Amino acid sequence: MFRSRLLAFALCVVPWLAPAPVFAAKTQNVVLIVSDGLRWQEIFTGADPRLISDKTGGNWVSEADLRKRYWREDPDERRELLFPFLWGTVAKRGQIFGNRRRGSDAHVTNGKAFSYPGYNEMSTGYPNDAIESNEYGPNPNATVFEWLNKFDELHGRVAIYGTWSIYDDIFNKSRSGLTMRTGWTLPPANGSESPRDALLRELYSTTTQFDEEDVGNSFLQVILMDYVRTGQPRVLFAGYGETDNWAHQGRYDLVLDSAHRFDYFVRQLWEAMQSMPRYRGTTTFIITTDHGRGSGPVQWKEHGIEENGSENIWIAVIGPDTPALGERTHTAPVTQAQIAATLAAFVGKDWNAAQPKAARPIAAVFDAAAPEDK
Ligand SMILES: [Zn+2]
Repeated sequence: MFRSRLLAFALCVVPWLAPAPVFAAKTQNVVLIVSDGLRWQEIFTGADPRLISDKTGGNWVSEADLRKRYWREDPDERRELLFPFLWGTVAKRGQIFGNRRRGSDAHVTNGKAFSYPGYNEMSTGYPNDAIESNEYGPNPNATVFEWLNKFDELHGRVAIYGTWSIYDDIFNKSRSGLTMRTGWTLPPANGSESPRDALLRELYSTTTQFDEEDVGNSFLQVILMDYVRTGQPRVLFAGYGETDNWAHQGRYDLVLDSAHRFDYFVRQLWEAMQSMPRYRGTTTFIITTDHGRGSGPVQWKEHGIEENGSENIWIAVIGPDTPALGERTHTAPVTQAQIAATLAAFVGKDWNAAQPKAARPIAAVFDAAAPEDK
């Protein structure tokens, strides 16, 4: 009794012990979108002058052609050429963190800077030191997606779509019961498949595989768009792997093409959802990456503790509750761990109450003038 009264007193007079939860006022649906290993350098300055060259980028496309596609002298113009939706729409109507050249720091806290630790951090809200490899196996900790799927109003409407089959472990497919489509796996054919679905199945089964874990982004986009039209998700994860895979192969030309198409896929998803009454004006996108990479003519290909700067990421948010502060500059650092509670708060849930280890939401992406309990 004494202890609890003391605690109540402490919470009352020392409010920073228990900050009030933040919640969104208008958002009903939230989508977390990830382009794997897409560096902040490309996001904020476009094509890298050191890698667009024939000598260092491993490019098969000629330097002249690549420059025509992606080069402008001015970095602000260059980034908009590479990411027209991100800079033309998301950054204008929402916010983007992580331009270290302008005093905004976004980073992972897992100390590993590779994929499984990153997806775990963003979806649970805290790092797990035991995760030493992408082959770690089924995640022992519940993600915010697994937790949200237990609420009656969200149950069956929380889904994971991703190009990488390892998401089955990260989001613990067998335990979580989430709707999941990952890698090269399509659900078994039923008797009444449309010609379009039959064609898609044929392409999935006959296309040469980059590797057995990763389907191409365009293959994911088709089934993701179908699902959004028919599945009525309220909480959705969309993971795109190409930007990481082509960087590991040392093909900067294909990193740029993949990044550019990723921007298109995000636009396509945004515009489709805004055209649907169920989603129009009530949907927030959080767009990010799972880790950074090294820089310079060699280290850009890889990421992890050996490659300096791999901890640096970027986080963008657009939606009806997010003030249009644009590219954030000279602002407090944000972390990958904050994404889980931020996502939950957009659908009115307090992940920190359920999981005290989780980092707090990014308060700046919620409208300060909305509910008084912020
Ligand atoms: Zn990688």
